[in-house]
Amino acid sequence: MKIKESKELKKLSESLKLTEGENSEIIINKGFEVELFVDSPECWDVSIIEHCVSSENHSSDLFKRCFDVYPSSTQWAWFRSLKTIGDGDCPECGGNLEIVDHNYKMVRRDWDSEPEYETISKDEECTNCGKRVFTGIDD
Ligand SMILES: [Zn+2]
Repeated sequence: MKIKESKELKKLSESLKLTEGENSEIIINKGFEVELFVDSPECWDVSIIEHCVSSENHSSDLFKRCFDVYPSSTQWAWFRSLKTIGDGDCPECGGNLEIVDHNYKMVRRDWDSEPEYETISKDEECTNCGKRVFTGIDD
């Protein structure tokens, strides 16, 4: 799992002088340590505050455990809104994407030959939340 990219993650990381990747790793590791997170799709696209409410953990205690200080009120607000997602490519939940469609264009080299087809884009769908991701392929 990882922490979903967001402006809150960026601001919190800057305030703690960490990269977003380091910050994400610390939070995920500590969350597992206190058994707040489990590595399953139920924990994808869930905010820290939702994790804490459902497990009776206090989010400021989790913050202290992660960074060894108690948060300022702005840091606390950013921290609580962070979401855990899976390691896959779905931008919403971190689930895995599966190609559901390819789009082609016909390319005719000359009038005497058979036309050829080139892939110009693909549609993928998240196997967890069903989000569609469209990717154009540049020439
Ligand atoms: Zn998804």
